[in-house]
Amino acid sequence: MRGLSGKRVILTGGGSGIGRSIALRFAEEGADVAIFDLDLDGGEETIQMIKDAKGKATAYKVDISDRAQIDTAVAAFEKGGPVDILVNNAGWDRMVTFLETDVDFWKKVIDINLYGPLHMHHAVLPGMVKNGGGRIINISSDAGRVGSSGEAVYSACKGGIISFSKTVARELARAGVQVNVVCPGPTDTPLFAAVAVGDTGAKIAEGLKRAIPMRRLADPSDFPGIVCFLASDDAGFITGQTISVSGGLTMHG
Ligand code: NAD
Repeated sequence: MRGLSGKRVILTGGGSGIGRSIALRFAEEGADVAIFDLDLDGGEETIQMIKDAKGKATAYKVDISDRAQIDTAVAAFEKGGPVDILVNNAGWDRMVTFLETDVDFWKKVIDINLYGPLHMHHAVLPGMVKNGGGRIINISSDAGRVGSSGEAVYSACKGGIISFSKTVARELARAGVQVNVVCPGPTDTPLFAAVAVGDTGAKIAEGLKRAIPMRRLADPSDFPGIVCFLASDDAGFITGQTISVSGGLTMHG
């Protein structure tokens, strides 16, 4: 991948699933990766995997719904140099029909999946602008494009991230900041296992596999290629775009 060696990357949720897979690829490409994760053990495990492969990375314990924690960690990482790339990947979800949810549940989902990425943009963008530009890749979800039963509030957040990204891409294009979105479909990760639980979960997973034209769930390894491409020199004229990685489950004209 062109141009990633030596780049400084902040990646949220790199302690598990899709984020871990992306972190490992950035490190392989020679980037210096800061993992912001609520689960420091998961973050440290990823760091160890990167260090074993002679890569460069640091884990920070950060709850992305807490702006003060974000600011402290961004300032600590920026001491080593400006941030070139931000990947907003951390997310959280549970499957509950909308009428069964309450305001406390909405708040938790919105704090992590909407406020979290907003805080991250707000904390990192001033440095990027000052430095002449940067790349932001936001991990949304196909649920944010087409909706998903049992995931009303999560879908609202993920849809919000898509339109937010387009707007920020417009506002900051002339400052050299490019913002794009990757939408996973159902992906075999700890989050998917927590959302699709028990017999019902197994039936949901089987139904999804039948509905996906490529007849399988996504794997975390399906994401680093597109994310690193969007962060690379090869994507130098791409901004405000949304790409689904879901085996054809959703197709958009
Ligand atoms: P995962 O649970 O395996 O990993 C998520 C990581 O985010 C974990 O390490 C977790 O500790 C971290 N995290 C959660 N809340 C956090 C917080 N408040 N602050 C900091 N870190 C936090 O999940 P995944 O499946 O790899 O999901 C990655 C992204 O992909 C999420 O944004 C998710 O919404 C999205 N996504 C996943 C699927 C799927 O089926 N797995 C489908 C569509 C979109």
